[in-house]
Amino acid sequence: MRNRKKKIYPLAIIIFGLVMVFAAIAVCSVSIKRHLQSEMENTLRDIATQNVLAVTNEIETQFRLLLGFSQRMEKSPSDLEDILEEMSIFVKTYDFKRMGYTGRDGLALTTDGHEFDVSDTTFFQRSMEGKIWITAAIADGFDSREMINVFSVPVYNEDRSEVEGVIFASYNNDIFQKMLSVDFFEGRGYSCIVKTDGTVMAHSQNSPLLEDSNFFDHMLDDDRENDISMVEQIKADMQNAESGAGRCGHVHGRAESSLFYYMPMNENLYDAQWYMIAIAPESVLNERTMPVMYDVRVFALVMLVIAVLGVSFYLYIEKKRQEELVSLAYEDRLTGGYNLAGFRENAKTMTNQTGYVVAMDLTEFKLINNNFGVQTGDETLLELWKVLKGNIFDQEMVARVNADRFVLFLRTSDKEELEERLNGMVSQIAEISNRLKIPVLFPVFGIYYTRTLEEPDKCYGYAVQAKHLVKGRRDRHFAYYDEIDSAQMLMNRRLENSFDDALKEGQFEIWYQPKYSTQEEKIIGAEALVRWRMADGTLLSPGVFIPLFEKNGSIAVLDEYIFRKVCEQQRQWMLDGHELLPVSVNISRVSLYFDNIVERYEKILHSYNLVSKYVQLEITESATVGNDEIAGLIERFHRAGFQMLLDDFGSGYSSLASLNTMHFDTLKLDKSLIDYIGDEKGEKLLKYIAKLGQSLGLHITAEGVENQRQLMFLKNLRCNDIQGYYFSKPLPLEEYASITYSE
Ligand code: C2E
Ligand code: CA
Ligand code: CA
Repeated sequence: MRNRKKKIYPLAIIIFGLVMVFAAIAVCSVSIKRHLQSEMENTLRDIATQNVLAVTNEIETQFRLLLGFSQRMEKSPSDLEDILEEMSIFVKTYDFKRMGYTGRDGLALTTDGHEFDVSDTTFFQRSMEGKIWITAAIADGFDSREMINVFSVPVYNEDRSEVEGVIFASYNNDIFQKMLSVDFFEGRGYSCIVKTDGTVMAHSQNSPLLEDSNFFDHMLDDDRENDISMVEQIKADMQNAESGAGRCGHVHGRAESSLFYYMPMNENLYDAQWYMIAIAPESVLNERTMPVMYDVRVFALVMLVIAVLGVSFYLYIEKKRQEELVSLAYEDRLTGGYNLAGFRENAKTMTNQTGYVVAMDLTEFKLINNNFGVQTGDETLLELWKVLKGNIFDQEMVARVNADRFVLFLRTSDKEELEERLNGMVSQIAEISNRLKIPVLFPVFGIYYTRTLEEPDKCYGYAVQAKHLVKGRRDRHFAYYDEIDSAQMLMNRRLENSFDDALKEGQFEIWYQPKYSTQEEKIIGAEALVRWRMADGTLLSPGVFIPLFEKNGSIAVLDEYIFRKVCEQQRQWMLDGHELLPVSVNISRVSLYFDNIVERYEKILHSYNLVSKYVQLEITESATVGNDEIAGLIERFHRAGFQMLLDDFGSGYSSLASLNTMHFDTLKLDKSLIDYIGDEKGEKLLKYIAKLGQSLGLHITAEGVENQRQLMFLKNLRCNDIQGYYFSKPLPLEEYASITYSE
């Protein structure tokens, strides 16, 4: 699971990075497009501005000319004939269609000899009001195929108080067209001049908009995806003489979308506000973005390929590394074969196999290491490995556990066949001795038969237990797990059955292990430890029978018996006139669950007229962990005056937290903690525990102290008492009494 996580983590980073790159590319392409679009708008604005300048310039030039004539008329109105003649020259030079003059009556005389009434025309009417004017494109009255714009200026009387007439010039609309035909965006852009109502006044040659068409209608063309609000916006801008830019949607199959820029022209000159619009199809933009976008996409693709290659490479390396780690974890360094972890791992693939798990080691292999050196030891193990390996078939396993311990899985259900194979190995192993010139190797095998390899550790454990039956024996090489099973069960049953008789016959003896004060090294008390003296005189250690009695409940009886015996003994020593030293008695976890234990113990104590401080009680740490019921019992014992000793503290249940919630008086540091002395970390832990205990006001006793070094260390810790072989092993009553109450 953790490996998976490790693998996924960098992968996620790479994917995240990739997403970021693509996001950056997307943002980049949008911004490139936007940038180009605004650049295009700028170009359109420039074009429009240029066009406005050019057109305005042209128009102003024409007006200057007309105004020149107007001034002349004002000075000498009688010169009309001459003036018209002069005008004819300018008509040719300036590409006018015609020029003319009209008096107040509206009857016009033109350079091309026409005489007609213009009194209805706007240019006449406006100029009569004193304005200089230019009309929208109109059909030429004399040549309806041509569109013209008419420029007009007023002619005042001498004192300039009244308008006497109007000088006008008709201008072929083509001229505007030519002016507007500035080439931009490879000839795909076009311009037009429109009035604020959208009427197209003039346009460049390539314009799809023609005179008489309407820019707004064009925008709102049925199929264009244009928003009416956009058109309204443009109209509003035009009312306020403001410039702006926009985008005109495409018409499917007919017209493409386009960008445009509009700006007002000189407002004083015209019959209405004119607008210059520069337009270009959006495809121009796309074409410009395309190469950049192409590069961006190529870049993205390259990044993608790099990322994919990177990830694959990473995964490949990671997989290799994992495989290497796995094989290291499963490999025995000496033999290069499996170790126990490898055995377990391999077992997973053969769970449904039936066969024998065999634990093997050599009797007295230590001798070889000690007498022939480690190198020979290693050589021996390698030779041994070769033999075992050579005796393994398909779907079978052999692994080295440690030192000279090996485990095999042999796939047979036939005992005879198995023993034949094992005996074969024994003789091959014996041959190693000749080769390496070492004493004959004596392998022992513990055998466990199993129908499944689902729990390889358990199988190996059973095989090891079986091996103990033959370890050290020179008469047989192997033993089966069933053998111990039945042997032990038989023995256990015998012990359980003889409990009552043993109790009656007083076979349970109490031995006393003295406790010494750390500072003065003086006896300060003892722990009572039970021993079973069998009828044949052998002494059984409590480790053998207590677990049995805990299982069947007899322990409660035994514990109470020991307690009573200790009380009786204390009473005796008291009567003998000795200054009593306290003796602690063990109470099993199981005994605690029997009814009224506190009252019963109190009653016994009182029946011997003893003060409770002389008989202390030891309860193991494992009994107390997270058990409120027991916490309550301890509290009650404590209140009854018993000194409570927390036994085996640190033997694996590590319940520092429970220390201050339970009413113990003494902390008994387990031998396993004392064995830490000499190890830096262990010593730290011990110091910490001792400090904690002392800070809680607990008395501290160290158990299993076996040497001077441990004693010195504990002295330093200001540990109160010492119990251990260094001072004394548990002693039979008389011996204890003799060293304690000798005087
Ligand atoms: P325990 O209560 O932790 O007793 C201490 C054990 O450590 C004793 O083993 C003692 O002989 C041993 N010991 C003391 N000092 C040293 C030392 O320096 N080195 C080594 N290697 N061992 C040392 P024992 O007497 O075999 O008792 C084993 C366990 O049996 C006791 O452990 C206790 O849990 C239980 N036991 C003994 N008597 C009784 C009893 O009357 N009732 C109950 N319920 N349990 C008892
Ligand atoms: Ca104890
Ligand atoms: Ca203990």
